Parts: sequence; C-alpha cells; structure tokens
Amino acid sequence: PQSKLPALGTTIFTRMSALAQQHNAINLSQGFPDFDGPDYLKQRLAYHVNSGENQYAPMIGAVPLRQAIASKTQRLYGHLPDKDSEITVTAGATEALFAAITALVRPGDEVICFDPSYDSYGPAITLAGGTIKRLTLQPPAFRIDWAAFNALLSPQTRLVIINTPHNPSATLWQTEDYRALWQAIAGQEIYVLSDEVYEHICFDPQGHISVLAHPELRERAVAVSSFGKTFHMTGWRVGYSIAPAAISAEIRKVHQYLTFAVNTPTQLALADMLNTGPDHYLALPAFYRERRDHFVRSLASSHFKILPCEGTYFLLADYSAISDLNDVHFCEWLTINAGVAAIPLSVFCADNFPHKLIRLCFAKQQSTLDTAAERLCRL
Ligand code: PMP
Ligand code: GLN
Repeated sequence: PQSKLPALGTTIFTRMSALAQQHNAINLSQGFPDFDGPDYLKQRLAYHVNSGENQYAPMIGAVPLRQAIASKTQRLYGHLPDKDSEITVTAGATEALFAAITALVRPGDEVICFDPSYDSYGPAITLAGGTIKRLTLQPPAFRIDWAAFNALLSPQTRLVIINTPHNPSATLWQTEDYRALWQAIAGQEIYVLSDEVYEHICFDPQGHISVLAHPELRERAVAVSSFGKTFHMTGWRVGYSIAPAAISAEIRKVHQYLTFAVNTPTQLALADMLNTGPDHYLALPAFYRERRDHFVRSLASSHFKILPCEGTYFLLADYSAISDLNDVHFCEWLTINAGVAAIPLSVFCADNFPHKLIRLCFAKQQSTLDTAAERLCRL
C-alpha cells in the first residue's frame, strides 16, 4: 500500500534494543528498568486474576483505579478531577497521547512541539492530518525562547505539546514556563497536551509541577501519565489522561475504538497499590537520585561530559572529546565496540541537530551501571 507515514521506520528504541541484544551489549538505550516492580503489586495482580476479574473493564477505566488517580492528583497538584467525566485509563501513556492527538487535531491544524521531542507525537499528528511546527531547544539548558514560540503561533495553531520532566533532556518546566505559555495562548482556541509520565521521577526539591496546578491552563489541557515508569512495570501498559469533561468525551470516542478498555486485573492491582500498598512513588526521587549520582560519579573519569539531570531516568552525555561520528553512528559504534547501547539525541529532532549528545538510561541495577561505566571510561 502507499504508506501514510513514508519517512517512518521502526522506532529507535526497538532498533537500539535489538542491536544491544545482537551484540550482547549493556542496554542503556530504551528506557526501562532491569529490576522488577513491588511484590505487593504482583501479589494483587495474581489475586485479581484468581478472583475471576478477567472480563472487560469499564471502557473509561476501572472505578477503583479512577478513584485512586483522582485522590492522588488532588493530593499532589491541588486539583480534584472528576473520576467519571475527566479521567480515562489507557493502554500506556502511548495510547493516551495518540487518542488525545486524534481527538483534538483536525486536518490543516498546526501543532507546536518542542524538540527534542518524544517520538510518538509526530506520527500521530501526521495521521490526524495536522502539521507539526517545531521549536528546537538548545543544550545544555534547553530553555524556551518565548518570542520564538509566539512567532510560531498562527490562526491554525490548535495544540501545544509539552513534556515535563522531559525525555530526553532531563529538564523541568517551572511555574514561569506555564505562566508564559498561558500568556501566549490565552483567548485562543488552543489546547495543551502535557506529557507527565515521569511525574514521580523529579529531583527538584519542590517536586514536579503539573499543568493541572495551573487553574486556567488546565481548563484546556490534557495531562497524561503512566504507571509503567512509576511502578517499574513498563510492560504492563497502563496509563491515563486527565482532561475537562468536554475534551475527555472526545478522547473517549477514540479510546473506545482503539483498545475499548484496558486489561481488568492490572487496573485493579494498580488501584490496590495506590490505596493500600507500600509507599512507593514518594520514595522514587531518592531511589533514582542515588542511581543518578552513583552513575555520574562513576563516569567522572571518562571523556564524556555529563549534562545536568533534574528529572526522568535519563542522563545526557556529550561525546565530542571521544569521536567525530554523528550521534546515530556513534551509538551504533558504541553498542558494537564498547558494549553499551545508548540513544542518539537527533532522533528526537526533525531539523538539523548537530550536537554530539547521547541518552543513557540509569534505571538499572548498580552492578549494571558499574559495568557500563567501566566500559565507557575506557573510551
Ligand atoms: N512519553 C514519554 C516522554 C516517554 O518517555 C514514554 C515512554 N517511556 C511515553 C510517553 C510512553 O509511555 P508508556 O510506556 O506508558 O506508553
Ligand atoms: N519511552 C521509552 C524511552 O524513551 C521507550 C518506550 C518505547 O520503546 N516505546 O526510552
């Protein structure tokens, strides 16, 4: 058939993980932990499977899970979303993002993305008939030039996609960023899709700032999160969106024909984990900070220049003192010759991104990180 996405191949995450496996390299490319999630969560899943909770869940998500998400959101961000009209449980954040983009973007609409940006946004916008307007942020700070942002706005602008804590730059949105965004789009029919899947992996003492904490922006925002990152279970594929009722109604029209409903026992186990499980997500910043700091320390004698990491479980490393290869070729070379797989940053950018930066995932056991650091220090 004539491809609807002719320029698109297989995702970088799938390709780099396959290359890592082929060459028996340590896989710091695709973002997933090499350790398991909490035992309690696994026990609750087994319990619900054995209790016969194995038929379709409600289309919008299991009641106890939506209830638990609502309470958590109120506790953390001071906003209580309505569990029946505003929260939709999806198959990972990936589905929530796709459903939101499909629901909101019409043919001819423009969507503003900040590059480097997560790879799933672009194809969804293209399939919806939208046009992507990219604002490329520059390392090491990846700050937004709001004058340049304003210059991208047009009568066709329909959606702005933001992501904090940010994959791959590991930077955070601050209150001023939300203020600037609101100033730029107030009074126009522009929506905000806020990808917050790393909401609990945030190293700033004041914590993650959600779009839901901004009273005006949240009236036109879809916040997306994922339990995969939070509970070390990326394979469980459960995420959710929170949006005002009118927007959620449109997202649900897409969701009901994309997956219909997310698997039942997993949703119930996650609800139990949130309601009665051990403290987990509040301990996550310290858990990952220790790994981050350990990994940064063990790379101190390497020729990589490590960029600051304020959130997510990714570290950016500048390899310009090691190689002249472009980042895609360097990552291939690194996997095959050094036995460590990483993600090149340019794949998150459509326009020319000449920097020599790679992304290393530190959601790994210390022994994995130690061996990786040893190999990286030899270069
Ligand atoms: N957004 C970002 C920024 C991500 O890094 C990821 C995956 N790691 C996703 C969305 C997708 O999350 P999920 O695995 O829940 O679909
Ligand atoms: N989000 C993960 C990452 O950034 C990958 C998820 C995937 O492979 N789809 O590494």
